Amino acid sequence: LEEQIREADKLSSIGLLAAGVAHEVNTPLAGISSYTQMLLAECGEQDPRRTILEKIRRQTLRASDIVNNLLNFSRTGNSTFAPVSMRALLDDTLQLLETHLRGTSIEVVRRYGDNLAPVWGHAGKLQQVVMNLILNARDAMPHGGVLTIAATSEGNAVTIEISDTGVGMPDDVIHRIYDPFFTTKEVGRGTGLGLAVSYGIVQEHGGHVFVESAPGKGSTFRVKLPGAVPSPSSARGQAAEAVAGQN
Ligand code: ADP
Repeated sequence: LEEQIREADKLSSIGLLAAGVAHEVNTPLAGISSYTQMLLAECGEQDPRRTILEKIRRQTLRASDIVNNLLNFSRTGNSTFAPVSMRALLDDTLQLLETHLRGTSIEVVRRYGDNLAPVWGHAGKLQQVVMNLILNARDAMPHGGVLTIAATSEGNAVTIEISDTGVGMPDDVIHRIYDPFFTTKEVGRGTGLGLAVSYGIVQEHGGHVFVESAPGKGSTFRVKLPGAVPSPSSARGQAAEAVAGQN
C-alpha cells in the first residue's frame, strides 16, 4: 500500500506540472505548425526548401503528440464513462495499426470471441492503452515473432492480454516501466510516456495492469477492467469500487 501511495503521489504531482507545461507549450507549437503550413503552401513542388519545411512540420507534430500525451496523463477523472465493447475496440485498434504491423514479420493472433462483457469506461482512452501495448510489443520484436491479443471475461471483469515473443525485460527495467519518461528506446523513438499514461488510464477505470516478462522470452501485459454491468446486489459505483479496492 505504501508503494501504491508513493506511486499515486508521484503520478499526481507530475500530472499537475505536466498540465501547466503542456498548455504553455501547445500554443507556440500550434503557431509554428500553421506558419510552416503557410510557407509550404507558397513553395513550389520542386522547391528544395520543401524537405526542410516538411521536417519542421513532422517534428512539430511529434512535439505536440508528446504534449498531448502529457495532457491526457494529467487529465484524469473528468471523462464520461459508458459501456465499451472490448471486441469492437480490439478489432478497431488492430485495423488502425495495420500499417504499423504490415511489412514486419510479426504474426498477429487474435484470441477473443464475441461473448465479452462490456467494460465501464472511456473508449478513446482504453484504445490508447491497447495501442501503446501493441506498439511496444511490435518494438520488442524487431526480427519478427508472434503478437497475441486475447481477452476474457470473468464475472464482472474483463481481462485483456497483449503478449509478444520479443526481447523481454530484465527485473530492473520491469521496475521502472511505469515511470514517466523511462525508456530504453533510442532518442526520437521512445518518449517513455506510453506506459505511464496507460497506467494512469487503467487506474482511472478502477482496473489493474500486470506484467510478466523475461529477457529473451517475451512479455505479457494483462489489463483487468471492471465490467459495465453491475453485479446483482450492488450499484455500479459500488461494484467498481469493490474491484478497485481488491488489492
Ligand atoms: P516508450 O515505448 O516510449 O519507451 P513506454 O512507457 O511505453 O515508453 O515503455 C517504457 C519501456 O518499457 C520501453 O522503453 C521498454 O524498455 C519497456 N517495454 C515496454 N513494453 C515492452 C515489451 N512489450 N517488451 C519489452 N520491453 C518493453
